Amino acid sequence: MSDRSALFRELMAELTLSDRPQSLIGGALRDGTGERIALEDPYARVVLADYADCGGDLADAACARAQEAQVRWVRDFSAADRGTVMQDIASAVLTRSDTLARLEALSAGKPIRDCRVEVAKVAEMFRYYAGWADKLHGEVIPVPSGHLNYTLREPLGVVFQITPWNAPIFTAGWQVAPAIATGNGVVIKPSELTPVTTLALAVIAEQAGLPAGLVNVLSGLGPTAGEAAIANDAVRKVVFVGSPITGRRVATAAGKALKPVVLELGGKSANIVFADADPGAACRGAQAAIFSAAGQSCVAGSRLLVEEGIRDAFLSRLEKAMRQIRLGDPLDEATEVGPIGNARQFSHVTEMIEQAGKSGGEVIAAGRPSGEGYFVPPTILTGLQQTAPAACEEVFGPVVAALPFSDEAQAVSIANATPFGLAGAVWTRDVARAHRVAAAVRAGTFWINSYKTIHVSSPFGGSRASGFGRSSGTDALMEYTAPKSVWVETAAASPISFGYD
Ligand code: NAD
Repeated sequence: MSDRSALFRELMAELTLSDRPQSLIGGALRDGTGERIALEDPYARVVLADYADCGGDLADAACARAQEAQVRWVRDFSAADRGTVMQDIASAVLTRSDTLARLEALSAGKPIRDCRVEVAKVAEMFRYYAGWADKLHGEVIPVPSGHLNYTLREPLGVVFQITPWNAPIFTAGWQVAPAIATGNGVVIKPSELTPVTTLALAVIAEQAGLPAGLVNVLSGLGPTAGEAAIANDAVRKVVFVGSPITGRRVATAAGKALKPVVLELGGKSANIVFADADPGAACRGAQAAIFSAAGQSCVAGSRLLVEEGIRDAFLSRLEKAMRQIRLGDPLDEATEVGPIGNARQFSHVTEMIEQAGKSGGEVIAAGRPSGEGYFVPPTILTGLQQTAPAACEEVFGPVVAALPFSDEAQAVSIANATPFGLAGAVWTRDVARAHRVAAAVRAGTFWINSYKTIHVSSPFGGSRASGFGRSSGTDALMEYTAPKSVWVETAAASPISFGYD
C-alpha cells in the first residue's frame, strides 16, 4: 500500500468512515453492488480506494429515507431548532476542518490552502442559512374581496442534488445548507470521482444532531444512481451542478417526470482589460481568474480580452507572473496550483491545447510541474479565431485564450459571442465605462476591477448554456420552497362563489 493510500485510510478513519467510499442511507453506511469505480489521486497517480456503484436500488432507498426524515424535520423541530442544529453542524465542520481539508486535497487534487478556505466556507454556509431557518415567512396580500389572503413558503419535500468533482465539499455545503434550512430532505450524489468529503460532511451533520436520513449520500454513477433518483416519485426538484452536456441529459430526464430543475453549468467567461486599467491589479486578477484551481472553476476567466494598445506589454507581464506560480503536491502548504483533477479531464485539456496549436494558435506555457501527476502548466493561447474551440468552448484547465479588441463596443460583442452566460469582469479606471460594460455583458456574476469573489449571501447562477435558476442568498431560499396562497372567508354571510372574485 502506498503512503498516500495509507494516508487516505487514516483520514477516512479520523472522520469515522471506512476505507472506501460508501453511501449514507437513512443514517447507515452501505456498500453498493454495481460497477467497480477507482478513486485515483491525481498527483501521485495511485489508486486510493476502489468501490462499487451504489446503483438504482440504494438511490430508491435513499429517497424513501429522505421522505420519512423530512416529515420529522418539519414536525418535530421548530424552525429555530432547525437553525440551532445547523449552527451545531457548522461548529462540527470547523472542529474537523483540518482532516476534511487534507482529505479533499488528497482525493480531489486541490491545493490544501484552497481546501482550507472551502471547508471554512462550508461552515459559513451552514451558519448563514441557520440564520434564515426561522426568518422565512409569507405575506398578507390585500385582495379585493372579503377574504384574508396570506402566503406560506413551504418546503418542497425531497430534493435531489447532483454535484461535480472540482469543488466537492464546497458544492455539497452550498446546496445542502439552504435545502435543509427550508425544511427539505436531501439526497445528494457527488461525482463518482470525489465522493468522500460529501459523505464525511453528511456523517458529521448527523453526529451534530441532524436526524438520520435527512441528508443521504449516493456514491455512484450518473446513469444508474443519478437517473434512478431523478425518476423516483419522492423527489420534487433536481438541482444539478456540472457540465452543460450532462445538464441537458438531467433536465430531459426531469422534464419527462415533470420535475423542476436548477442547472448550474459551465462557462467561458470574458475578463476584459482596458488600456487605462491598473496593470498590476489586472495582471493579478487575470492570474486568479484562470490559474487558481488550475482553471477548474466554472467562473474561470478563460477568455482574456485585452485592448490592442497594451496587448503585448500585458501578455508579457502575465507570462512573467505565470513563471512564479508554484505547481506541486496538493498536500504541500506552499503549492498554489495542483494537477488536473482526473485522467479524463487531463486528456480533454491537453487535446484542446494541441488542437489550438494545430489550428494556428501560439501556445505560451510557463511553470514547471513537479512529479508524475496530471499537470498542465499555466498556458496562454494567442492568435486564435474567436470561433476556435479553445476560444469559445469550456476547457476547464489553466488555459486562457487571449483575444485583442479595439474599443468598448467590440469588447462587449466578443464577451457576448459564446452560448454561455455565467460570469465576467472588466478592468478599467473609468467608472462610467465599468458600469456600462457590467450592464452589457451577459453574465449572472460580474466583477469590476476584481475577479472570483463570491459569497453565500449573494445570488449565483447563469443563463443559456450556463444554466438557469439561482443558488446562494435569498434566491436559494426561493428555489427550495414553494409559495402556498391561503384564503380565509371573513364575511360571515358571503355566498360561495364559483368565479375568481
Ligand atoms: P459532469 O457533468 O460530467 O458531472 C456532474 C455530475 O453529474 C456528476 O456527479 C456525475 O456523476 C453526474 N452525472 C453524469 N451523468 C449523469 C446522468 N445521466 N444523470 C444524472 N447525473 C449524471 O461534470 P464534471 O466533469 O463533474 O464537472 C465539471 C463541470 O461542472 C464543468 O462544466 C464546470 O463548469 C461545471 N461546474 C459548474 C458550477 C456552477 O456553479 N455553475 C460549479 C462547478 C462546476
